[in-house]
Amino acid sequence: MIVFDLSCADGHRFEGWFGSSADYDDQQARGLIACPHCGSADVAKAPMAPAVPAKGNQRQEVLPPEAPRPVANSPLPPQVQQALAALAKAQAEALKNSTWVGEKFAEESRAMHYGERDAAPIHGQASLAEAKALIEEGVSVVPLPFPVAPPEKLN
Ligand SMILES: [Zn+2]
Repeated sequence: MIVFDLSCADGHRFEGWFGSSADYDDQQARGLIACPHCGSADVAKAPMAPAVPAKGNQRQEVLPPEAPRPVANSPLPPQVQQALAALAKAQAEALKNSTWVGEKFAEESRAMHYGERDAAPIHGQASLAEAKALIEEGVSVVPLPFPVAPPEKLN
């Protein structure tokens, strides 16, 4: 989901949530987006407002990576939320062809590295020490930007 700041021909501003930028374009082209204030379908993306610096000691909090989805009242600028959502989506795409090996990740990565099994995309869990050891051995592993729930917990 992404959120756009929209405004109608009368200058009412409101937020619209869409599955993607293309969704917005499609709905906008078909006149499906109406201003909630006056019902006008003459709606366009509002110009992005510049980020307003927080006053005094109101520091902006950064969301933990466990919450990459855009949130209506998030302190993160929409661009950052969109970038995080895109990154989360890219990770999900990348993992589609990858096999979850859970705690066997270090073992499986090593087996592939040393040619003991066929190379295939895998992802799983490794402790920091295990990950460091793998990298020191020259096994190519990369940390994922977002945590992945083990499939057995997704029931
Ligand atoms: Zn309006």
